[in-house]
Amino acid sequence: MRKHLIGVDIGGTKIMGGVVDDGGNLLTSLGKPTPTTNARVLVEVVKEVIGELLTRNPDVLGIGLGVAGLVDWEEGMVIFSPNLPLKEVPLREEVRSRFGLPTFVDNDANVAALGEWCYGAGGGASNLVFIILGTGIGGGIIIDGKVYRGTRGYAGEIGHMVVDPQGPLCGCGNYGCLEALASGQAIAARAKEAIAGGRASSILELAGGKVEDITAKTVTTAAGKEDVLGREILSEAGRMLGIGLANLANVFDPEIIVVGGGLAEAGELILSPAREELEKRVMNLDSRGVEIVQAKLGTEAGVIGAATMALEEMGGAAGC
Ligand SMILES: [Zn+2]
Repeated sequence: MRKHLIGVDIGGTKIMGGVVDDGGNLLTSLGKPTPTTNARVLVEVVKEVIGELLTRNPDVLGIGLGVAGLVDWEEGMVIFSPNLPLKEVPLREEVRSRFGLPTFVDNDANVAALGEWCYGAGGGASNLVFIILGTGIGGGIIIDGKVYRGTRGYAGEIGHMVVDPQGPLCGCGNYGCLEALASGQAIAARAKEAIAGGRASSILELAGGKVEDITAKTVTTAAGKEDVLGREILSEAGRMLGIGLANLANVFDPEIIVVGGGLAEAGELILSPAREELEKRVMNLDSRGVEIVQAKLGTEAGVIGAATMALEEMGGAAGC
């Protein structure tokens, strides 16, 4: 008999929940838009999602939640989130007291890293770095088969590693973070700037002729069709990513680096310059062979990973 767990991925636009078995199979799922009003409303929607999943499948052992923000792992408390109305919210206690099931809360990138490590592109590697290239940049680090959370649970903020001290201002207040140079937001900003400055490119046409409607997606689509500016921007973002990955390779010596998130769909247009830069910068020659691969679970990584985290914390073998 397979064990069933609930995993919930609380993101800036959607709250996704699902029932997952101990083989990493997503049995049923549902999503609701993330309320942006206040913490109380958001927590109620999280409980609604869990309640509905429990009605569909009452045979659940525990609940895992992944939240886009800083999470105090020990306390199960969301300390702060740049994109959610959550500040010092005791989410674990809120959920546990309502459903009476063992509940665990972690950062969304950490649980997605666990999901990819266990059932996705991880391929059984003991040491893995997972990086999410989306609107922002998040990450998770697996060391010896365990999520590395740091002292308080804040480790893995790969997006806020400084790769250019003279670089642009980041949303976190620092300058030259990887997120400020290689995220979807950064790519869109660079394209807007170039086009407003007079560069010709099919990016503008793809954005309906409006500079303000340019997104990372229009840049990657244009680059996929040989647009010179699009390729330049992705190549530069890839180069910055490569500097970050070389730092990570020097510090952690991973077997594999998994790249997920919406921007990973740009594939080799971004990964190939990243690989080149990494090879130039890693110290140990063997690290040049570190594999950089695209994630496999897509948007399900968070839900599957959150459920897997709960199973692991309850001492169940996740089979990975
Ligand atoms: Zn930053």
